[in-house]
Amino acid sequence: MERQVRVRFAPSPTGPLHIGGVRTALYNYLFARRNNGVMILRIEDTDSQRFVPGAEDYIIESLKWLGIGIDEGVGHGGPHGPYRQSERRDIYRIYVKQLLDAGKAYIAFDTPAELEAARASKPNWQYDATTRMSMRNSLTMPADEVKSLIDNGEKYVVRFLIEPGRDVEVNDLVRGKVTINSSVLDDKVLYKSADDLPTYHLANIVDDHLMEVSHVIRGEEWLPSAPLHVLLYEAFGWTDTMPQFVHLPLLLKPDGKGKLSKRDGDRLGFPVFPLEWHDPASGAISAGYRENGYLPEAVVNFLALLGWNPGDDTEIMSMDELINKFSFEHCSKAGAKFAFEKGKWFNHQYLQELDDATLARLFKPVLEQHGVNPADYSDEYIARAVGMVKSRINFVSDLWDQAGFFFAAPTEYEPKAVKKRWSEDMPRIMSELIEVLRAMPSWKSAEAEPVVLGWIADNGYHLGNVMNAFRLTVVGECKGPHMFDITELMDPEETIRRIEAGIERIKLPE
Ligand code: GLU
Repeated sequence: MERQVRVRFAPSPTGPLHIGGVRTALYNYLFARRNNGVMILRIEDTDSQRFVPGAEDYIIESLKWLGIGIDEGVGHGGPHGPYRQSERRDIYRIYVKQLLDAGKAYIAFDTPAELEAARASKPNWQYDATTRMSMRNSLTMPADEVKSLIDNGEKYVVRFLIEPGRDVEVNDLVRGKVTINSSVLDDKVLYKSADDLPTYHLANIVDDHLMEVSHVIRGEEWLPSAPLHVLLYEAFGWTDTMPQFVHLPLLLKPDGKGKLSKRDGDRLGFPVFPLEWHDPASGAISAGYRENGYLPEAVVNFLALLGWNPGDDTEIMSMDELINKFSFEHCSKAGAKFAFEKGKWFNHQYLQELDDATLARLFKPVLEQHGVNPADYSDEYIARAVGMVKSRINFVSDLWDQAGFFFAAPTEYEPKAVKKRWSEDMPRIMSELIEVLRAMPSWKSAEAEPVVLGWIADNGYHLGNVMNAFRLTVVGECKGPHMFDITELMDPEETIRRIEAGIERIKLPE
């Protein structure tokens, strides 16, 4: 019988979840949903030194924002809990003892200073078959001495006894078979008596086994640990139910030269975290996709394509479509360049899908930030204003730049445009325009336009100069939607006030 698909996202709460971690969570989720499987959230907090308060909540909130659903785990419960490793000490103790009793692990007392001295003794020194017999451990010390040291509270660690000279195979769904000789591995620490906690390796394997994980889907940086994990499965006698490994390609810098880092984001101006992060120790704030105006659907779509494709050129895909199409067959081994400009493109595309009323709602806080009270305008007014400019925005905040003039008269006039379009007789022509506008039977775009253009033609005025001067007075610069669409929406008195203000205030360059 095929095994039920059970995957886990297993972040360590050592800081804000990096965007690469978000991609790992997403691929786990897509694979689980595609195969009617279960998605587990396990918090791997066994490294008490690196624990950061708030990081777990941040992870949970990030997944929620992105619509990456969890079926079992921290914050959800389930049959295999607790799902926070720091709460599973009793379980790990049993398995550490099992390895010790079977002679597959041993106790070591070496102090940090002793380890340091050993490392300094020769290049590439490691704790392994070639060195372990000259160290202070239960393999080299009499049993009663070991016992009395433990009874006296001496700090120790438990190390995995790695047999040298064996080819260890890791079968990876993306990379195929990877073989490593066990002689290159060191006797990894599995448990530390100092905090009565296992290390990542032991806790990870024990939990994957107990939680019946079928596929371990994680970043490429964990590939070097995989042979050790295979050996641990063997040592426990669990090879039959060993999960299938999938190591996802690295996320690379936008130019492809090396691993993506937070510094690349700072340097090039894009977030590397899903949500804004306030560092509890330093107080420093790191930008997040959510606060920078990205829609969660756009972030999901963008990340899904960093290392995977649907087998054709389709780019815009909803979560459901991604689920339908997802498989590891189309996952690449090669690192994926973090093309953040493409992320903006996705956001642009998803913003176009929103109806004007929704966009108007998202725009209201931006209006407030700019000192405009949205309640001074009808919802319809705001919706029509954003509808006219939405094709030009990548972010909701761009709406202010594009449509702010609908809510605030210009305070200055773009000098280049003034130089090009304004002239000595423009105040007089604009005064005439006011008369023409006042006399119009309708401000509807299609009706107003021929009236104004007719007046320009009848008087032999320069069409481009007059229309741009008109625009300058109303918008402050020579940009924006069709002029008569603007004036149809705006209060006619406001339009006229702005032309009057322009006549008064626009000055020709000396
Ligand atoms: N706790 C590890 C991490 O922070 C989990 C690696 C794995 O998925 O095995 O990513």
